Amino acid sequence: MNLKDTIRTIPDFPKPGIMYRDITTLLTNRRAFAQTIIDMSAPYQTKDIDNVAGIEARGFTVGGAIAYELGAGFVPIRKAGKLPFDTYAQDYDLEYGSDTLEIHADSIRKGERVLLVDDLIATGGTAEASIKLLLKAGAEIVGAAFIVDLPDLGGLARITKMGIPVTALVTYD
Ligand code: IMP
Repeated sequence: MNLKDTIRTIPDFPKPGIMYRDITTLLTNRRAFAQTIIDMSAPYQTKDIDNVAGIEARGFTVGGAIAYELGAGFVPIRKAGKLPFDTYAQDYDLEYGSDTLEIHADSIRKGERVLLVDDLIATGGTAEASIKLLLKAGAEIVGAAFIVDLPDLGGLARITKMGIPVTALVTYD
């Protein structure tokens, strides 16, 4: 099946001029959801992944399922103030202003092999901040997997330049 057909586009959300790619319609389609998890996991089946790290919030939805598929654990990367134990924090720039992501300082043992996942990569700012957190925590980052890539915004190239292999299932030119 063509996964792109199951993703809904909402014009002018959350602001005028933005074409919002809404993956909730992919998630409610059980065949599309299963195929997404299988296809995102496939390149990493032989890579001995210890933990999948998912970015809040839609990265949790696919991340938990991919972790199960790979026989790996799961590490949440969360917005500031949500995690209850000691954390590493990383600021990153948004179009207007900035935000902070956090990871539990003890979530990864030094040298553990980690796959980063999220629903969508646009500018790559969120993924880059997450990679910095994973490196602070001692991870060896094996790759980054997304459902959707928006190549015009340059995120995939930005993360690839950091030396991390990136995969995406659906592209909007
Ligand atoms: P980036 O940091 O510019 O790469 O933006 C990626 C982050 O914003 C991810 O966590 C996405 O979930 C979210 N995001 C940006 N654009 C969209 C969209 O069109 N649909 C769904 N999520 C989006």
